[in-house]
Amino acid sequence: MTDLTIITKADLALPAEPLALRHYIDGAWRDSADGAVCERIAPSHGVTVSRAAMGGVAEADAAIAAARHAFDDGRWSRISGKDRATVLLRVADLIEENVERFALIETLETGKPITQARGEVGGAADLWRYAAALARTSHGDSHNTLGPDMLGVVLKEPIGVVSIITPWNFPFWILGQKLPFALGAGCTCVVKPSEMTPSTTALLAELLDQAGLPPGVCNIVLGYGDPVGSRMVTHDDVDMVTFTGSTAVGKKITALAAGTLKKVALELGGKNPQVIFPDADLDSAADAVTFGVYFNTGQCCNSSSRIIVHEDIADAFTARVVALSRQVAFGNPLNPDTQVGAIVTAAHQAKIDGYVRDAVAAGAEVCLGGGALSVPGLGHQFYQPTIVRGVTPDMAIAREEVFGPVLTVLTFRDAEEAIALTNDASYGLSAGVWSENVHTCLDFARRAAAGTVWTNTWMDGFPEIAFGGMKQSGQGREIGQYGFDEFLEVKSVVMRIGRTRAPWVRTGTGG
Ligand code: NAD
Repeated sequence: MTDLTIITKADLALPAEPLALRHYIDGAWRDSADGAVCERIAPSHGVTVSRAAMGGVAEADAAIAAARHAFDDGRWSRISGKDRATVLLRVADLIEENVERFALIETLETGKPITQARGEVGGAADLWRYAAALARTSHGDSHNTLGPDMLGVVLKEPIGVVSIITPWNFPFWILGQKLPFALGAGCTCVVKPSEMTPSTTALLAELLDQAGLPPGVCNIVLGYGDPVGSRMVTHDDVDMVTFTGSTAVGKKITALAAGTLKKVALELGGKNPQVIFPDADLDSAADAVTFGVYFNTGQCCNSSSRIIVHEDIADAFTARVVALSRQVAFGNPLNPDTQVGAIVTAAHQAKIDGYVRDAVAAGAEVCLGGGALSVPGLGHQFYQPTIVRGVTPDMAIAREEVFGPVLTVLTFRDAEEAIALTNDASYGLSAGVWSENVHTCLDFARRAAAGTVWTNTWMDGFPEIAFGGMKQSGQGREIGQYGFDEFLEVKSVVMRIGRTRAPWVRTGTGG
């Protein structure tokens, strides 16, 4: 693949030795009771990045007990929003001071480019600041129209102990979509990062400690989904679970949580289309499609892994995206020019390749890439930018989350067909439309079954704008006021003023 833009050189050195990570429970760092440890090997460089203590039920129980106690004694849940905000703002400042340290480890554990990792870590500070603002401004409401002798007050109270379970693809950013919001609302938390990318979550404990977060308010347990994650879902003392990960595990979590009927918020997978009408600004659309499919090496819930292009422009548009794909800088994630890095594991790479092989066997045509990419000096855990056309809606590659740098091209004849193809999916995370006609865009935005619709752009996100999925892409919303409210319980207080209540029991009428 000599015509791809491949970056081999690194500008940053590898760390001298692996990070040793421990659990953070009740304000103290602990090893696992049984001494279990898991090593994470950098997908791009093959070196050991971290050695993490791997917890079990004992560590999960200790963390849940600490969070329960910290919630019930009111050390965090009953202080003012202003005081909570002060701590969150300190954490935001500390995150900014640690961007380089966190970004390097995030890059090595995930394989994502260093420039992207810096943006995610630094950007997470803004999520903490926004949640701090909501901690001070979110409130319930009052009703003084119930009658002259009645007053109704609707309180918003923290829901309690929250289990936070996160995936490997945006470890620090996704934690930022959950933890500061839960803390800002007054909840106490138990956090479990993915076993593949525990480092930045574990390192955050140092910053929480420095920022003065009271012990027990945020506890971090490292470990596998089962037993640690499942214990965090089934435990009686946990009031809510917020999970980001695959739809398959999301379904398991829903079933596990049913035993205690606790609240479950889910951010799951997607099969997100960008629809290109012929009157679109095709240069911008082609650039956004290229970004949408290769960002985070396609290992992104918002990956626009399928485009739906009007049949009159499909060939020319696909050729434009192929040309742009050749100019995207793939390769060594430790080079600031690199835009696309490694695949998280060899097993995942084989799964991506399987989708491409199956599509070809079913009659689709690979018009770019379609196999592992060897980056000199780094090895094979990279996948070529791949574009597959001649795809039909029934193929697995068009319906399932491939989670790699693989674009599938479908075509449409008219707006009705474009909407039908968009909504012909079990997922409903995000969708995009490209047209210079505002009516075309608005009609699409109203009819697309997706939690987010981008018009003439892709993947612009803001802490203020709620994010989440319809259908099997999830339930509940994150970030924005809606995301904050997920961590609040509503309590209604109805008060009578004076002794105006008419007795229900009619005394003196018996006999
Ligand atoms: P995953 O579902 O395999 O794992 C996610 C987390 O769940 C990990 O921490 C894992 O240890 C834990 N887990 C696994 N089994 C569990 C169980 N039985 N009980 C409790 N916890 C358990 O997902 P992944 O491979 O880490 O991440 C990729 C997936 O995440 C993709 O499907 C992607 O679309 C999705 N994702 C969604 C969003 C979103 O906002 N919608 C964002 C990022 C990633």
